[in-house]
Amino acid sequence: MVIDGKPAAARSGATVEIHDPATGELVDRVPQAGVEETRQAIDAAHKAFRAWADLLPHQRFQVLMKGAALARQHLDEVASLLTREQGKPLRDSKIEAQRFVENIEFYAAIAASGAIRGKQVPLSVPGAFGLVVRRPLGVVGAIIPWNFPLTLLANKIAPALAVGNTVVAKPASSTPLSTIRLVELMNEGGLPPGVLNVVVGPGAVVGQELIKNSKVRKIGFTGETQTGKQVMAEAASDLKHVTLELGGSDPAIVCDDADVEMASKAIAIGRFFNCGQACLAVKRVFVHEAVADQVIEKVTARAKRLKVAPGTDPSAQMGPMHTAGGRETIEAQLKDAVDRGARVLAGGNRLRGEPFDRGFFFEPTVITDVPPDARVWREETFGPLLPIARVKSLDEAIERANDSEFGLGSSVFTRDIKKAQQTIDRLDAGYSWINQVNLVAYDELPFGGTKHSGFGKEHGVEVLDFYTEEKSVVMGGV
Ligand code: NAD
Repeated sequence: MVIDGKPAAARSGATVEIHDPATGELVDRVPQAGVEETRQAIDAAHKAFRAWADLLPHQRFQVLMKGAALARQHLDEVASLLTREQGKPLRDSKIEAQRFVENIEFYAAIAASGAIRGKQVPLSVPGAFGLVVRRPLGVVGAIIPWNFPLTLLANKIAPALAVGNTVVAKPASSTPLSTIRLVELMNEGGLPPGVLNVVVGPGAVVGQELIKNSKVRKIGFTGETQTGKQVMAEAASDLKHVTLELGGSDPAIVCDDADVEMASKAIAIGRFFNCGQACLAVKRVFVHEAVADQVIEKVTARAKRLKVAPGTDPSAQMGPMHTAGGRETIEAQLKDAVDRGARVLAGGNRLRGEPFDRGFFFEPTVITDVPPDARVWREETFGPLLPIARVKSLDEAIERANDSEFGLGSSVFTRDIKKAQQTIDRLDAGYSWINQVNLVAYDELPFGGTKHSGFGKEHGVEVLDFYTEEKSVVMGGV
């Protein structure tokens, strides 16, 4: 762990074991924090806050850029750690490590650009004028899941640090290695001690301390909807700011006039990327009956062609699932659909033999004829399982797409821009793509969900509103 700029152990001597999801091998052990170590990290961040907040924005820019430059020199090392602990193909880990660095650079540049600004407000009292100034919040607790540990870390620490907050980050206990390494490098790059800390341990201990400790003023949380609800309820007792980036069940709608080839490719990539374990993965497809046969055939063919292998294999396009439990949930959701009459068109099984038997591999799976009451339409499917439904009209597709508690992403495929705009207007989601799915995270564009997918934004200049608060100032007057 990293507390107050230094490597830190747990006083109890407890450790967390990190296993490779592709082989089951022990990759490493890290200290497991308890309440005591979490408090030390919070105290260090609290102590460091005033001086960090008082730096000029371009001074924070310089420090963050130095840290980012150092991290950039270690991308291969960080990517290798990420693949070993998370399971994703090395190529994807490299992109993720690079996205971390780019995100830090993006918000460092925003700090230096003067974009973090308030406003002047004319007042109706002679001689008086009003200002609205922006202030950082203080200590931020960043709670991160295991599926994209580095981008989701950057989404929080980059804007938080750029505007003058200090941070205690808590990665998932199964993916702490790449996070700890990056935090070390950012510290080596010149962050003052205590500005960025990382503690590892159970959500019920470390996460809870972050949420309940009154020195922490904001929780940036990404994770499951159920956990997010609990975080919000508990943060309320201390009136903490919260951003909640939660689960999703993104629909993709394919219209009768869509470019079938393009839509099928995007849907297959959008579902099977990161072994289906992405909040913004395509999780439900509604395709117009006029093109349904073609889309189903093409997506199925792509699923069958995908090269599944350990993430360390350079030819891997899809790695293992991250946990045994995650795979069991996907199997149960698949069984539920099949028991109700769904047909399996591709996959449906664990991969067998060497090198698969030791890891949590599951075939890219496509199902159709899935009855509306099946679990896959209601629940988040967090793995490589794709249900495709035929619909008779665009209205039916939109109605089914919105028939979900989630509202994270969504996409529509059509050659008619007017139809695309009208569809997007009616989709209940925080993000929509036209003729595309989530492949690139745009730093420039705010991202966040609606309904049970959470609230608050990451990315864009808009995220700055969620890591600062406004203060009104009156000068002069009678
Ligand atoms: P999770 O909710 O189990 O855990 C997320 C983090 O919260 C972990 O660090 C965990 O230790 C911590 N935590 C767990 N219980 C806690 C508690 N009681 N108090 C405080 N912290 C606690 O989620 P997960 O299974 O690791 O991640 C997968 C989920 O994350 C999926 O639902 C996925 O859709 C969602 N997700 C959302 C986004 C987004 O931006 N909306 C991005 C990625 C993942």
